[in-house]
Amino acid sequence: MSSLVQGEPQAALPEGFRGELLGPGSDAYESARRVFNGMIDRRPALIARCRGVSDVQAAIGYARANDLPVAVRGGGHNTAGHGTCDGGVLIDFSVMRTARVDPASRTVRADPGCTWTDFDTETSAHDLATTGGTVGSTGIGGLTLGGGLGFLMGSFGLSCDNLLSVDLVTAEGDFVTASGELNSDLFWGVRGGGGNFGVVTSFEYRLHPVGELLAGLVIYPIEAARAALELFRDVTSSGPDELSCAFAMITVPDGPPVAVIAACFNGPIEDGERLVAPLRRLGPPMDDGIRPMRYPEVQRLFAEIPFGLQNYWKGHFIREMPDDVIDASVRSFEGVTSAHSAILIEAPHGAVRRIPDGETAFGQRAARYNASALAIWEDGDQARHVRWSREYADAVARYASGGYINYLAADASADEVAGAYGHERYERLLALKRKYDPTNVFRFNQNIDPTE
Ligand SMILES: Cc1cc2nc3c(=O)[nH]c(=O)nc-3n(C[C@H](O)[C@H](O)[C@H](O)COP(=O)(O)OP(=O)(O)OC[C@H]3O[C@@H](n4cnc5c(N)ncnc54)[C@H](O)[C@@H]3O)c2cc1C
Repeated sequence: MSSLVQGEPQAALPEGFRGELLGPGSDAYESARRVFNGMIDRRPALIARCRGVSDVQAAIGYARANDLPVAVRGGGHNTAGHGTCDGGVLIDFSVMRTARVDPASRTVRADPGCTWTDFDTETSAHDLATTGGTVGSTGIGGLTLGGGLGFLMGSFGLSCDNLLSVDLVTAEGDFVTASGELNSDLFWGVRGGGGNFGVVTSFEYRLHPVGELLAGLVIYPIEAARAALELFRDVTSSGPDELSCAFAMITVPDGPPVAVIAACFNGPIEDGERLVAPLRRLGPPMDDGIRPMRYPEVQRLFAEIPFGLQNYWKGHFIREMPDDVIDASVRSFEGVTSAHSAILIEAPHGAVRRIPDGETAFGQRAARYNASALAIWEDGDQARHVRWSREYADAVARYASGGYINYLAADASADEVAGAYGHERYERLLALKRKYDPTNVFRFNQNIDPTE
């Protein structure tokens, strides 16, 4: 540690460390410690920008020798700020971003620092894809380990359902591969249990042929929000697996508040045209952007949200969408406190709900919707924005089946983490945590505390 205090981070790890070590006091450290959510302002003792497995082992070894906790950063998008920490060792994967596709076996091996744009760009070169996050700069790491909702989920399941294996370094520094055949208990846990069990150094996914899709945003005036949400409920309860839709109420930059339905049909265009026709019949939309497009374009339908804004997200997976939820959603957005904030309702369906519940650690397969108030603002009255988000979550809480661990806020309680899994699944995760990380080296995550 003394070397860090003296500003010589390179002396902190063994000579063979191939990556970069950043300690307090340098500009590079200042920029590397920032994450997506501007509310998070943490100062790791050391940032270890790793280049491979041995670097990760060295960083974990150093942390353990110095009794420091370990945080892991993939894309840095976690709004709870789990991708950084105060006073620990931050394993930063921002220079490990290669995705190598094997078109013959329709698989891809992706580095833990890949964003979804990195990933999709490589897989699309072969007209292959798998379910991934809908904003390109989000990391594959955190998103996949917590579940992974995206436009292809009705056809192919969650991102974690498409994992074939992971390479992982444990709290002891051991290298293990987890798959259906190897360390299958661990493989079950990393598919929904987050970063609790170790540091993943490589993700292997199954890919699927994906051709032209019928997709786009239909934008309605905010006065039509209630009707649009009713329509969204109808379309998502009756549509086939191949049709994924999300609903949002947002404010157009320098423009009015609007309601939006994002649709993506992964099948023959003529069938898609028939299925999306109702979205076009709800009065004259302000904009109808639905048209045939390739998958990378689908993945750009949602605008990037810049790093550095303040974010507080709160919501729940809900079992159904009665009129009460529609009323609460519309009412909530009427009182929205920032032009950056949104109500977002995603609709897990098809393969997500059909995959047997016990197959992975993801705990919310029976839910029909994921309803969230995303409070996003530049600065100022934090309490007001946070209250707005919490009030929405409270208003729909009676229909909740649990939270989405990837959206849980920094103040989420241990009960909220456990509630995202349900009792039986949580007990199984707890046993796994006690086996792989009994001293909770990996605690900056949606934590399963092995000592409880
Ligand atoms: C703008 C935006 C859009 C989003 N869109 C979607 C979406 O479409 N679908 C969806 O499901 N979710 C979405 N999310 C939520 C997203 O799943 C989580 O924020 C997720 O944590 C992001 O992963 P990351 O790697 O970028 O996060 P990071 O902040 O880098 O990491 C978060 C945590 O993940 C774990 N982790 C990451 N990498 C590793 C690794 N290699 N080994 C072990 N643990 C690791 C660690 O516990 C870490 O603390 C979105 C979030 C944002 C901010």
